[in-house]
Amino acid sequence: MIISIASGKGGTGKTLVATSLALALTGEARVQLLDCDVEEPNDSIFLHLSLNHCQTVCIPTPKIDEDKCTHCGKCAEVCAYHAIAVLPKRVLVFPELCHGCGACSYFCPESAITEEGRQIGVIERGNSGNLELVQGKINVGEPMAPPVIRELKKYIDSESEVIIDVPPGTSCPVIEAVKGSDFCLLVTEPTPFGLYDLSLAVDVVRKLGIPSAVIVNRVGVGDEKVEHYCREQEIPILSKIPLDRDIAALYSQGIPLVEGMPGWRRVFAQLFLDIRENYLLRSYEVPK
Ligand code: SF4
Ligand code: SF4
Repeated sequence: MIISIASGKGGTGKTLVATSLALALTGEARVQLLDCDVEEPNDSIFLHLSLNHCQTVCIPTPKIDEDKCTHCGKCAEVCAYHAIAVLPKRVLVFPELCHGCGACSYFCPESAITEEGRQIGVIERGNSGNLELVQGKINVGEPMAPPVIRELKKYIDSESEVIIDVPPGTSCPVIEAVKGSDFCLLVTEPTPFGLYDLSLAVDVVRKLGIPSAVIVNRVGVGDEKVEHYCREQEIPILSKIPLDRDIAALYSQGIPLVEGMPGWRRVFAQLFLDIRENYLLRSYEVPK
């Protein structure tokens, strides 16, 4: 089963939930945790395992052969991302804007464009007992997380229980990370910001057709509007984590909740069983 852990808003406790759920299952099953928060992967801090570089992620970027180019402008015309500018005597490519879609080389009438790989990130892996962590890391300043997430998801092991730590927000990287999941846990906090971003995240998972439920973190910090919203929208709240100084202290020291407070291990294991018993499993295909 593939469970993604998402939140419309950063800093709601997504990492806390993803690492706790993964560790709680290791006693019973082989578990794979995919850290798709590629701009700032931090699950490894809590899992205390060493990571090995296993793959470089590149995207194809156009290279112009000026001897063949007639400066017709077709490549700039078809580039939806404004990554090419054709001047009277020169073609300029802006690699950081290029999405590697290949349209320019496909439409160039002179076959003056070849493609060369440009590295935008890496994939790293590490093991500890029954748990495997695979994380993507995008180069600083690179704007395009989805290609790194796509490569990362190719490492999904269908024999394992898979937990995906999704980037914050509701944009393309989130969709890339969540799609293909059997279930999505939305982590939120009971504040106006938490509620607003939760409603956006709910829209996304509904459009993707993925069943979801909510975990409310830092209960006690705000009001009850998140609970009202979930009731109205008929979204189950599967767990609540209180606003607790000891939990915050463990987190700040890089200690997983289920290790610092072992009672939570049973809570997260039960959470997994609830999801498995209440939602139909379906086979997973790695998205193209
Ligand atoms: S489409 Fe080809 S020939 Fe035309 S400007 Fe671009 S590279 Fe040059
Ligand atoms: S590969 Fe696609 S995004 Fe990149 S320059 Fe060519 S048309 Fe633009």
